[in-house]
Amino acid sequence: MINTDICIVGAGPGGALLSLLLAKKGVTVTLLEQHHDIAKEFRGEHLNEEGEKVLKKHGLYSKIEKLGLLKMEVIEYWENGKLFKTVQPEKKDGHLGIHVPQAHLLSVLIDEAKKYPSFTLMTNTKVIDLIKDKHGHFSGIKARRKGKELTITSSFIIGADGRYSTIRKKAGIETTVVKHGYDLLWARIPSPKNWKPSIKMAQIDGYQLSLFTQAKGFIQIGWNINEGSFSEIRKQSFEVFIEKLIQAFPDLEENVRKHITSWNDFVLLDVHSNRTNQWIKDNILLIGDACHTMTPTGAFGLNSSLKDADALAQCIEPGTIKDLDLNNCVQQRKKEVQKLQELQIEKEKNFVTQFVILD
Ligand SMILES: Cc1cc2nc3c(=O)[nH]c(=O)nc-3n(C[C@H](O)[C@H](O)[C@H](O)COP(=O)(O)OP(=O)(O)OC[C@H]3O[C@@H](n4cnc5c(N)ncnc54)[C@H](O)[C@@H]3O)c2cc1C
Repeated sequence: MINTDICIVGAGPGGALLSLLLAKKGVTVTLLEQHHDIAKEFRGEHLNEEGEKVLKKHGLYSKIEKLGLLKMEVIEYWENGKLFKTVQPEKKDGHLGIHVPQAHLLSVLIDEAKKYPSFTLMTNTKVIDLIKDKHGHFSGIKARRKGKELTITSSFIIGADGRYSTIRKKAGIETTVVKHGYDLLWARIPSPKNWKPSIKMAQIDGYQLSLFTQAKGFIQIGWNINEGSFSEIRKQSFEVFIEKLIQAFPDLEENVRKHITSWNDFVLLDVHSNRTNQWIKDNILLIGDACHTMTPTGAFGLNSSLKDADALAQCIEPGTIKDLDLNNCVQQRKKEVQKLQELQIEKEKNFVTQFVILD
């Protein structure tokens, strides 16, 4: 039996940053993560200017930079192998987004948090239920760790446990899932030498894909497929896909053939977003994907989780945990997130109009 002021479930970007910021203030916080390796979940890794600002504000950016990140120098639009439009960064920004390997981001957040005695991290700890006290208030969580069940009591519980949030479900908080008509297949290959750090949006014979250069010499390829179509697509040869890719980007041929050798080299992202009106219930708060999963468009997901953590940390002080009122704080974030979710739908509708048919 463990007791803590605040129990945060999920050591993704949102949960890890919030834990650090609270521990720094002297709040006793216990962070629970189901995996042994905190960087195990596959996530979005593109930082936009908002996420960058949050990390800089807390003196974390330079520490992550030391471990390695990559600034995007150009966005390119390609139609059937021909480049027809480029977007250059504004001089004041110097880049168009930053690739930050999640292991670098999370290890800096966790290592910083470990400097504070009020922080405890428990990995290998999967939360399976919420517990209530005799007055019906949520008073803690039940988790499974190394085959044993354990109970953690806590004055406040924060669900930062991602898109399929157990805390959201167990608290009985309703969410509306919005499908966007497509799913994504991700694959990763080493990048050829001299490949400029870039985001490439491409249409190839009606297929839509995006290529993101990554730190440490990789390219992440995202392939839009019709919603729910992967099981049918898998019955065909994956070669059709890679031939299209090679046709449009011949420089990639060697690495594509070497590193994409079956459908198993693709990871499927079931694309959806969700809207959750209630972020707070009793002494439970949801942040990040747990209350506002986003689609990958615009790389808002990761950045919104960091912003939630930053905003919420400002509203929580040691000594106030038992009577926390986070409503104002949450209302502001809700408005910002709602705007982004509307913007995503707009951007997705307009994706095709970015392309002109070339002679
Ligand atoms: C395959 C994939 C690709 C993506 N691509 C992009 C992209 O290109 N751009 C973009 O902006 N966003 C992308 N996203 C979304 C982005 O990764 C998320 O918005 C962001 O990671 C949300 O951060 P979070 O901290 O809220 O939740 P998460 O990063 O999901 O972290 C939640 C954490 O909670 C842990 N957890 C879950 N359940 C439990 C439990 N019961 N007990 C204990 N721990 C638990 C998980 O292991 C995880 O570590 C992608 C997501 C996925 C899954």
